[in-house]
Amino acid sequence: MILRVKNTIDEKKANELGKELDAFVVKYDGSLLLVTPTKLKEVSEKHKEFVSESFVFNDDIQLASKKFIPHTREIKISDNISIGGKTNNTVVITGPCSVESEEQIEQSAQLCVKLGVQIIRAGCFKPRTSPYSFQGMGLEGLKLLDKMRSKYGLKVISEVRDSTHVQDIIQYSDIVQIGAKSMYDHGILKACAKTNKPVLLKRGFGTTLQEFVQSAEFILSGGNENVILCERGIRTFETKTRFTLDLCGVAWLKEHTNLPIILDPSHAIGYAYGVPDLTRACMAMGCDGLLIETHPNPSVAKSDASQQLNFDQFTKLYESLKSIATAVNKNII
Ligand code: PEP
Ligand code: MN
Repeated sequence: MILRVKNTIDEKKANELGKELDAFVVKYDGSLLLVTPTKLKEVSEKHKEFVSESFVFNDDIQLASKKFIPHTREIKISDNISIGGKTNNTVVITGPCSVESEEQIEQSAQLCVKLGVQIIRAGCFKPRTSPYSFQGMGLEGLKLLDKMRSKYGLKVISEVRDSTHVQDIIQYSDIVQIGAKSMYDHGILKACAKTNKPVLLKRGFGTTLQEFVQSAEFILSGGNENVILCERGIRTFETKTRFTLDLCGVAWLKEHTNLPIILDPSHAIGYAYGVPDLTRACMAMGCDGLLIETHPNPSVAKSDASQQLNFDQFTKLYESLKSIATAVNKNII
């Protein structure tokens, strides 16, 4: 249950009530909330005097539920970039899978500036499937991203591989990405709960929608209200494409949760030839953002070479999204 505490109750008292009810105490929209175990379905006589409003749930999706907030949350990435809420914005994010060198990330930053893309993506701590693959440039790569941030005024999203470098990612980026393989990592989820930085949580490729949103609840219940979901493809029986982009799942998330949703067609299909059409399908669905991998020379990319678009392919795709955005009442930002 979520109990909205009366505004005459101070934080100390709310924390005492939280202990009594085994509840998380979180702030939302200027009020204090007690988020109790879902099995609690009624406010006891003893607690009624402290509570102004209550919300009952039949599963462990509480803070992320539309039954609690009936619209999509607005997540502010910076003073002039917001998604969700009343904005109708679809934020286009692009960049390489990994930072590989200063020259490569500089070229990527220049592509963003040329097209008006405001957020650059690139991983520095890569959670690879094999120990023999490129693992990322680590802190050195993050500092290169930070350089692009100051030089070009771009915002940065980069992924966290384990909880040891969450603070570095927070320091050098504007959105913390939790990758598909880390969706269940409680060290990362709990560290991200303690910051106010927007967090992009990717769906694990073998997880249900319920499990996905429950992971988001770890961040929300720990105190960070800025969570964005990302569908990036799930594993099915099909092997011709890398994963299967679950657009049905996206429809479900839009209907039942209050979190903005960014779609990642690149990791879903895994092959550049299909990325433009799939991206247009995502745009037509009216998502809050798109994450598309690009590389100055995809054939030599150190990770995810087969799916990254070259700059010409991306430029054509980006132009083609504009009329689709208009048709579905979205603003590309
Ligand atoms: C990535 O964004 O480069 C990445 C590794 O994605 P995922 O976690 O979805 O595999
Ligand atoms: Mn990648």
